[in-house]
Amino acid sequence: MTNLTTITAKPAPADTQFCWSCGTMRAVHFCEACGKVQPPAPVDYFTFFGLPRKLNLDVAALDKDFYDLSRKLHPDLNAQAGSKEQEWSLQQSSLLNDAHRTLKDPIKRTEYLLKLEGVELEEQSKSATEQARSTGEIKKQIVPPDLLEEVFELNIQLEELRAHKKMGEDDPALIEEIGRQKLELEEKYEALLNELQAHWKTWDALIERDQAGQPVSESERKQARDKMLDVLNRRNYIRNLVRDVSEVLEN
Ligand SMILES: [Zn+2]
Repeated sequence: MTNLTTITAKPAPADTQFCWSCGTMRAVHFCEACGKVQPPAPVDYFTFFGLPRKLNLDVAALDKDFYDLSRKLHPDLNAQAGSKEQEWSLQQSSLLNDAHRTLKDPIKRTEYLLKLEGVELEEQSKSATEQARSTGEIKKQIVPPDLLEEVFELNIQLEELRAHKKMGEDDPALIEEIGRQKLELEEKYEALLNELQAHWKTWDALIERDQAGQPVSESERKQARDKMLDVLNRRNYIRNLVRDVSEVLEN
């Protein structure tokens, strides 16, 4: 288990360093005192935006910070500056774009936080699935228990449809039935976002308690992380399943 005793937004070491130009305390991106762009600091995306590692996030405020910083860090603005500063503003701008893209999206934000927390998501990417198929390995995907029956039934129907198609036969009733199940799966997929957001609240409350100096145990953190991980894994499972269904319907 990874050591996660200091997960809250305590200032990263880079925050406490000094501006390379005027020597005042530097911010992550540029100096508050002289306005000079600073070399990129090794900070996570939350720290980059001066945010705690909480998942409920004011996206409008994030966007505003993003646009403010984009202007200030724009490489063209620093074109006249020394080549060092130009290079740094390029690097900082690219970091800014990555950080913004990741934190803005609720799923990417959660995945990123879990990764920071040392949690690995199940490998369910398309390439991994295809590789598993081609090598005859058993897929690593675990069927979520609440979907077992549905998936079993759906797989039989997909096999049936594949067989029909191979014979050049049409089966509109079966296609309609599979299409209906696909729609249901898509609805479940959407609903999982709400479930995830409910777990954000639990996580954020732990961070707030930690910041208030009240100790949070590792098992509490783990419980909160595991719930989010479970939702993400189920969500990925459904996404892959819908993709498989689409492939059979379209081919
Ligand atoms: Zn300065």
